[in-house]
Amino acid sequence: MQGEDLWADIHEMNEDLIACERCPRLVEFRRSVVGRDKRFRGETYWARPVPGYGDINGRLLIVGLAPAASGGNRTGRVFTGDKSSDFLVSCLYEAGITNQPTSERRDDGLLYRDAYITAAVKCVPPDNKPQPEEIANCSVYLRSEIGFMKNLKVILVLGQIALQAVVRLMADPSEPRSRYRFIHGAVYEIGGVRIVCSYHPSPRNVNTGKLKRSDFIDLLKEVKKMSEA
Ligand code: SF4
Repeated sequence: MQGEDLWADIHEMNEDLIACERCPRLVEFRRSVVGRDKRFRGETYWARPVPGYGDINGRLLIVGLAPAASGGNRTGRVFTGDKSSDFLVSCLYEAGITNQPTSERRDDGLLYRDAYITAAVKCVPPDNKPQPEEIANCSVYLRSEIGFMKNLKVILVLGQIALQAVVRLMADPSEPRSRYRFIHGAVYEIGGVRIVCSYHPSPRNVNTGKLKRSDFIDLLKEVKKMSEA
């Protein structure tokens, strides 16, 4: 799949995604959180599934958990407009993966270099906890995104749910899943693609020091190097 054909296929997938109502609980929830955060009251929320973003021809794929209520669910772009995005994108910038250190709005000029970013679940879940059937429902979109990335060399998974979602799609079903334990910094290889695990850059992980800025930047630099090798 080349050039215009690829973009047409992604566009078609995203049209389908944005209209998706496969998970009734999440359809209800993504609307119910509109305006719940006082800081954004009166703002028009996206309140729909949030597509991936970046360079689909890139060698690096970053997979998070799901949009945040006042982040991607508000702004309509993955990892945009919340605390996790602030931390993640400032670190990606330090590692040379984005062109700017901030991710605030869809029209803010943020670009990913040689990388694409998405989430395992495209709708915001209550308490950031999607149910197994919701992860399974949404895997059809992640599968397409992985399939579109013909130059893919490395997948950075942010948290355990992202790892499980990727392994489920990529690993041989006869392989024991216990082979792919979530350990921060662990690297696995499936079908020539390296899968690198990192804690999710959530405020809880950052504020408690579980995910330290300098360590995370070092990991991102390593991931970038792997994707360029
Ligand atoms: S989580 Fe995924 S499958 Fe479920 S409604 Fe949202 S886009 Fe559709």
